[in-house]
Amino acid sequence: MSNCKVIALTNQKGGVGKTTTAVNLGVSLAKQGKTVLLVDADAQANLTMALGYTKTDNLPITLSDIMQDIIDGKSVDVQESILHTDEGVDLLPSCVELAGVETTLIDTKNRESVLKACISEVKKNYDYVLIDCMPALGMLTINGLAAADSVLIPTIPHYLSVDGLGKLMESIVRMRRGLNRGLRVEGILITMASRTTYAREISELLRTQYGTKIKVFDTVIPHSIRAAECSAEGKSIFAYDPRGKVAQAYSALTKEVIQHEKQRQKHRTEIGR
Ligand code: ATP
Ligand code: MG
Repeated sequence: MSNCKVIALTNQKGGVGKTTTAVNLGVSLAKQGKTVLLVDADAQANLTMALGYTKTDNLPITLSDIMQDIIDGKSVDVQESILHTDEGVDLLPSCVELAGVETTLIDTKNRESVLKACISEVKKNYDYVLIDCMPALGMLTINGLAAADSVLIPTIPHYLSVDGLGKLMESIVRMRRGLNRGLRVEGILITMASRTTYAREISELLRTQYGTKIKVFDTVIPHSIRAAECSAEGKSIFAYDPRGKVAQAYSALTKEVIQHEKQRQKHRTEIGR
């Protein structure tokens, strides 16, 4: 059995730090010696651009080509579409054509499982696959949830964002009842937190509302202009500002994710005895 762990970064709310977390958690896991594939499952291609591939139209093969071939019943070589970045992570890139694929999916047999089929081809090569989902609960996000072992939910400490989490939880529960019975919530991650009383109050609300049922990561990603600058530079925070507070926070998050996985494996071994 593959030991690869597939985590979907999901929140239908836009601009909450999904892509920034995919890049920086991915690079940080690679720094801890893990093999990591980042999958850009968003037609905005922000993850692809954040790793320095700004001219996404020039990429020879992207996720949309692979998914289209799977839809058409053709054989695929996912490996040849994977880019090896100089930050130590691999990337399955995206481009705007992925939006067209999402429309095609609606009339496709096994329409929820196309991304899963794609990732299954290569997951044996990785310890972690992180899927950066788009800000909607459409067919591509459903594909992300169907392909994942767990969901990591970045959210900003704002009342409307916390309120929107209920809808996402409903989708996760629906997934568990049908397509993906083993789907777990990795945790809720508070991002872009400023040091205001309001942000603290909302974070507390989140912990009381969800914390008994779902892990809310202890690590909080602080708001910092450095985090916004690094994606524009096409670099991770570890290449752009390695000693800053955002890099420190993403390192701490990485430790929590690895620790969580170790505990789960230990638990699995114990109940298997
Ligand atoms: P979308 O829903 O559009 O895919 P997203 O959830 O992936 O967005 P990001 O693109 O990661 O969110 O972040 C939104 C914006 O906030 C970006 O401009 C990013 O550079 C910036 N940003 C991310 N994290 C931080 C942070 N910790 N501090 C300040 N700005 C940040
Ligand atoms: Mg994004």
